Amino acid sequence: MPSALEKLVKILKLEQNTGCQNKVVIGGLSGLSGPWSAEAHQQAKKPEHHALVDELSAIISGYDDEPDATLRAGIIRHMLGRITGRIPAAVIADPGPADRPELPPQTVQQTPLLAVAPTERHHTSAGGSLNIAPPAPPVQNNDQARRDPPRPRPAVALPTAQGSANVPTEIIASRSSDPGPEALHQAAEFQPTLDDLILEPIFAPPSAALIAARPPRPPARPPKRRRDNRTLDEKLSVLRALTQPVTTLPGIGVKMAEKLATLSMVTVDNALHTFPRRYDDYTAMNPLARLRPGEQISAMGLVRSVAEIKGKRGIDALRVVIEDGTGTLSVSFFNQPYLRGKFQRGTQVVFSGKTDLYLGRISMTNPHWEYVDQEALTTRAIVPVYPLTSSLSPANMRRVTDAALSTWAEKLPDPLPDSVLERADLAEYAWTIRQMHRPESMTLLDVARRRLTFDDLLLLQLGVLRNRQLWQAVPGDPLPISDEWLPAFEAALPYRLTNAQRKALTDIRQDTAQTIPMNRLLQGDVGSGKTVVATAALLMAVANDHQGALMAPTSILAEQHYRTISRLVNMLPEGASIRVRLLTGATPAAERAAILSEVREGRVAILIGTHAIIEDTVQFARLGVAVIDEQHRFGVEQRGRLRSKGSNPHLLIMTATPIPRTLALTIHADLDLSVLDELPPGRIPIETRVLKIQERERAYSFVRAEIEQGRQAFIIYPLVEASEREAMSDVRSATAEYERLRTDVFPDLKLGLLHGRLSATEKDAVMAAFSAGETHILVSTSVIEVGIDVPNASAIIIEGANRFGLAQLHQFRGRVGRGQQLSYCLLIPDDSADPAIDNPRLLAMQNTTDGFELAEIDWKLRGAGDLLGTRQSGGLDAMAEYITPELVELAQHEARAIYADDPLLTLPEHALLHERLRQVYGEEAGTELS
Ligand code: ADP
Ligand code: MG
Repeated sequence: MPSALEKLVKILKLEQNTGCQNKVVIGGLSGLSGPWSAEAHQQAKKPEHHALVDELSAIISGYDDEPDATLRAGIIRHMLGRITGRIPAAVIADPGPADRPELPPQTVQQTPLLAVAPTERHHTSAGGSLNIAPPAPPVQNNDQARRDPPRPRPAVALPTAQGSANVPTEIIASRSSDPGPEALHQAAEFQPTLDDLILEPIFAPPSAALIAARPPRPPARPPKRRRDNRTLDEKLSVLRALTQPVTTLPGIGVKMAEKLATLSMVTVDNALHTFPRRYDDYTAMNPLARLRPGEQISAMGLVRSVAEIKGKRGIDALRVVIEDGTGTLSVSFFNQPYLRGKFQRGTQVVFSGKTDLYLGRISMTNPHWEYVDQEALTTRAIVPVYPLTSSLSPANMRRVTDAALSTWAEKLPDPLPDSVLERADLAEYAWTIRQMHRPESMTLLDVARRRLTFDDLLLLQLGVLRNRQLWQAVPGDPLPISDEWLPAFEAALPYRLTNAQRKALTDIRQDTAQTIPMNRLLQGDVGSGKTVVATAALLMAVANDHQGALMAPTSILAEQHYRTISRLVNMLPEGASIRVRLLTGATPAAERAAILSEVREGRVAILIGTHAIIEDTVQFARLGVAVIDEQHRFGVEQRGRLRSKGSNPHLLIMTATPIPRTLALTIHADLDLSVLDELPPGRIPIETRVLKIQERERAYSFVRAEIEQGRQAFIIYPLVEASEREAMSDVRSATAEYERLRTDVFPDLKLGLLHGRLSATEKDAVMAAFSAGETHILVSTSVIEVGIDVPNASAIIIEGANRFGLAQLHQFRGRVGRGQQLSYCLLIPDDSADPAIDNPRLLAMQNTTDGFELAEIDWKLRGAGDLLGTRQSGGLDAMAEYITPELVELAQHEARAIYADDPLLTLPEHALLHERLRQVYGEEAGTELS
C-alpha cells in the first residue's frame, strides 16, 4: 500500500505532468484536502509529520482558487519540495512578491521530512542513497534561463523568478536545487527518501518546459482581418513566387530538397500546404488511471516493460506497458515485427487509439504511436505531427515549415475577395496557414481548418463549373422524342415505373432534346431501378437513329447489364430490330472484330461493356447517348474518352452511392442531378441485426437454415490477408476464414471465395458459379461491393462490421433483398464495444434501409470522407473530415455568385483566386477535373 504521502506525490506529479490544469482530481485538487489529511494524519508518527500534513492540506485546499496555471505550477513544486525536504519550511515564510499565491502560515520545519516506512526501504535501488535522482530543474521563463549562469541556480520553487530576487543570497544558496558537490554530500547523509521511490522525473522536463512556454490563455478567436494595402501586382507576384523550389528557403539545401520531394514537397507552396497529419495536444493527455474502455484518446507514459508474445496461428504480438505515475496501460501490437526494439524501457511515448478492455485491464491494440518529441515540447503545447519518411525526422519537417512560414507567411495575400471572407465569416489566409502548422489552441485550429475546407470546396466548385461550361460549349446532336414515346416504352414493361423513375426520364428527355449535351447524374439507391432508366435513355438515341453506349466497371456488371437491357429491349414491339452487343476484355478476338465493325458502321444500336469500349479501336458511327454505371469507379479521363467517342454525346452517369444532395451538388457541380428516392413497390425491407462476437455461431446456424430452404448467402470479411500494417489480431482474414468455414463450419456445403488478389477471369468464374447457384456461400472481401445481382441470396453476414463506413455497409447489404423473399443482414463487429453505446453507425444500419438517410448520418458522424469514396475529388480528401453541410452550402453559394458574375475569373477582384485555382488544378484551371 502506498502511503498517503506517496499518493499525494503521485497526484502532484501527475498534475505537473498535465500542465497544472487542475484536472487530475475530479472537481479540482482542493477536494482532496480533507480526505487526504485524514489518511495522512493516521499514518503520521512524529509531530513534524503532523505539521507537514496540516501545512500541505492547507495549501491543497487553496489550490482551486489559483486561476493561473503558471502559479499553480509553483504551488505544486513547492509542495513537492516540502515533502522531499528540498524546501525548508522557514524560507517559505519569507514574504514574496505581490503576485505570489496566498499560502497559509508555515510551521518552521528545519529537518526535511524524508521518512519512509521501514518496510518500504527495500524498494531502494542497489546504488543506495547515492543514486538519488537529481531534483527536477527549476522552472523559469526562457529568458531568465538564458541570462542566468548555469549554477548555482536559485530554486525558485514557489515564488516567481522575480520573487526570488527578494530572498537574501544566503538563503538562495542554501536551497540550491542543483545537486552540486554540497548537495550530493548532503544527500549521502540522508536515509533513502521518498524521492528515490517515486520522484524519478517521470515527465518533469517536458511538463516544466511546457508550463514555461505555454502562453497563459490562447485567444479563442482569430485576430481581426488586417487591411492589405499592397497593389494587385505585388500580391500576385507573391503568390507566383510560391512556385519557387524549396531550396530557396533559408537553410534548405539540395539534400533536404531531395528528401522533401518524396513527400511531394517541391515548391515553397507545397511546403506551406503540407499540413500536419495530426496534432498532439500534450496539455490534454489522459492520466492512465483515468482511461475507460472504448474511448478514442491519446495517452503518454514511460515504457515500463516490453514483451514479445508468440501466439496461436503464428500471430506475433508485442506487448508494451507504459506508466505515468497514476497507472499503467498495456498496448499490444500484432504482426508488426519491425516494432521490436523501438520501445526501450524508460522511453517516453504517446499512444493514440481506442481503449479496450482486455482481461479486465485497459488496453489498446495497434495504436498510433510516437516518441514524445522533447524538442517540440519545449516550445509549444500543441505539437504538429507531419507526415514523415524514414529519412525525414520530425525536426526536419519543423525546420522546413519554420523556414517557409518565417519567410512567407506574413506576406501571403488572401486569394479570396474580401466580400467572400466577410459574408462567410472566414479567417484570414496567412493566419490560417500559420495556425495549421503552429496552432495556438485546438479551437483556433478548427477555425483555420474551416477556412481551408471552405477554400477547397470553393476551388473545386469553380473548377467543375468551368469544366461544365467548356464541355457544354461544344454542341451535341439533339435527340427529341415524341410525347407518345415514353408511355409506349412503359407499356412494354412488366411493371409500372415509379414516380421517381418517371421524373428522371422526364429530366433526361428534356436534356437530350437540346443541342447543349446532357451532363446528368442519376443517383439511386441499390435496387431503385436505375437500369431501366438508363435503357430508356439509350433508346432515346436509338429512336433518333443514333447509337447508345453503356460502360460498367467490371465484366460481371457489364454482362448483367447486357442481359437486363437485352431483355427490356426485346419486350418492345420494335425490339427485334435493335441490336445490342457486349464487349469486354474477355470477348474472343473474332467476335470482337465483328462487333467493332458493326459499331463503326452503325449497325449496333447499343454497345454495352467495360473499359474495352473506350479503347481507340472502338469507333462509333453516331454515338448519341453514353451511360456510365457506378461512376466513382471511373477516373475523369475515362469519362472524357467515352465522351470523345461521339460528337459530344449526351452523358448520363449512374451511381448507387447515395450522397446527401448538397454534397452531391458540390462535388458534382458540373452535373445536373436526378434522384431515384423511391424503391419499386413490393420490396421487403432487409432485416438487419447487430450481433456480438459470441453470437457468431447463431449467425452460422441462421445461414444454414436459409440454405436448407434453397437460398444462398454471403459472408464478408474486411481484409484479404494479414497485411503488415493492419491489425490482424482479430481481423479475420478472408482466406483463412474461408478455409475454416469450409472444413469446420459448413463441411457439407459448397463455398466460393472472392478477393482482390484473384485475376479478373478467376473472379468471374467464382461469381458465375455463385450466380448459377452452384455454390451456397460466397466468402468475400469488400470486392463484392459493386452491384452484383443474385436474387436467390437471402442472407449476408458482415464480419468486422465496425471497420466499414456506412456507405459501404449499405452497399454490401444491397447484395441481398433482390428477390421476393425476406432477406437478412447480420453485422458482427470485431471489437468488444457495446454497439448500443459505441457504434451508432451499426445501429443506424439496424434502424433504416434508406441509403440517403444513412448517408446523412454518416456525414454527421464521420465527415464526408466515406461519402467521397474513391473519387478523385480534387484534393478534397485531406479535408473530407471537416466538410460539413454548413460549409458546403456556404461554398456553393459563393461559388455560384462568383461564377454568375465572372465565369472566367477575369475581374481584378478575382485575379488572386484565379491564380490560386491554376496553382491547385493546373494551367487549364479545372479542365481536367469533373
Ligand atoms: P439498381 O438501381 O440497383 O441498378 P436495378 O435497375 O438493378 O436497380 O433494379 C432492381 C430490380 O428492380 C430489377 O429486378 C428491376 O427489374 C426491378 N425494377 C426496376 N424498376 C421497377 C419498377 N418500377 N417496378 C418494379 N420493379 C422494378
Ligand atoms: Mg445497377
